[in-house]
Amino acid sequence: MRHERTRQLSAGFAEVYGRQPAFAVRAPGRVNLIGEHTDYNEGFCLPMAIDRDVQIAVAPVTAGRIRARSCEADGEALIRLGEPLAPDAATPWADYLRGCIQVLQQAGEELVGCDLLLTGDVPLGSGLSSSAALEVATMHALLRAAGRPRPGTAIARWAQRAENDFVGTHCGILDQLASSCAEAGRAMLMDCRDCSLQPVPLPAGGRIVIADTGKRRGLVDSAYNQRRAQCEAGAAAVGVAYLRDATLHQLQAAAADGRLDADSLARCQHVVAENGRTLAAAACLRAGDAAALGQLMDQSHDDLRQRFGVTCAELDAMTGIARSLPGCLGSRMTGAGFGGCTVSLVVESAVPAFTESLLARYNQDWDLPAAVYVTGAAAGAGDVDLEDTGDG
Ligand code: ADP
Ligand code: MG
Repeated sequence: MRHERTRQLSAGFAEVYGRQPAFAVRAPGRVNLIGEHTDYNEGFCLPMAIDRDVQIAVAPVTAGRIRARSCEADGEALIRLGEPLAPDAATPWADYLRGCIQVLQQAGEELVGCDLLLTGDVPLGSGLSSSAALEVATMHALLRAAGRPRPGTAIARWAQRAENDFVGTHCGILDQLASSCAEAGRAMLMDCRDCSLQPVPLPAGGRIVIADTGKRRGLVDSAYNQRRAQCEAGAAAVGVAYLRDATLHQLQAAAADGRLDADSLARCQHVVAENGRTLAAAACLRAGDAAALGQLMDQSHDDLRQRFGVTCAELDAMTGIARSLPGCLGSRMTGAGFGGCTVSLVVESAVPAFTESLLARYNQDWDLPAAVYVTGAAAGAGDVDLEDTGDG
């Protein structure tokens, strides 16, 4: 499958630009197993890269400009190097590339002109971070074309800055760091304070099943900004810079003194508890205890529903159905919430029946384009071998 996509990308490149690409790079989407709304509180999360990615074929040119097309979006973007850039509504998808170019140039990287063709099979806008995959793949394309080093953590930070400052989406570092630095076959315990990562094994005999509710996130920005503000209020009330350093006891004391409102207290309690659950989940994986991990995933979802208030009827329905099915060890929403995907841990032998029943039962009640993806843990971003396009 991967080889076939790469072959098509090369053929598409030749068709569009009239010559062969010099090289290709890739960066995966991600799913977070646990640790939600913790990243901007300098806490912990536990993502893994999924086996869907954005691939970019590249050929350098002598002119000081970058030309880009996507197999999944209309239009051609022409971006001049060395000039200030602005978003362009004619090719909004290319704003992610413009943002990456701007950030790299601000960081002093000397970029070279090139032709790019990108293709992705991370579903767009489902919460599996096709945007981070696009940014991180773009970083690899631009830096490799320029013959520059490609440091994984720096690439993640640059990609996050491109999304925050240029595209204008508020996001923590989770998505970009997972796409950039994940290891194959592992989940990554991520400390969002210093971007350090510890690989942990996935449970033998268990599979990760992602279910897209088909509900697109509305109102996310305002609700997301409000949750962030409530977390900041909690940190300020107990006198720390980030909730990572607050305890449940301190938060309760602040609420009892009237320094923190009840709503914000509940939000902050989720974050502190979620950090604990995430560390416990990594310990479960190290110990090979899939059942205990599943329970933590259930608890995480329930807290995101009750105290953090970022689930929705569709996410609650999808996780509820999943938990009722044989072989499901745990199920929770993943990503920012208000729609998007769930992630379930399922006993391998039960996966075919699980995915079929999950979709069938969800579709009975919801007229939405739901989808299910069974995924392994893929490697983080890197090169794609253009030669190796045989039928492997
Ligand atoms: P998510 O990151 O959850 O998939 P976002 O809204 O953050 O959702 O990012 C989706 C956007 O990323 C798309 O609307 C598009 O602009 C861009 N994008 C991602 N993959 C591609 C692709 N293969 N081709 C063109 N644009 C893409
Ligand atoms: Mg995104």
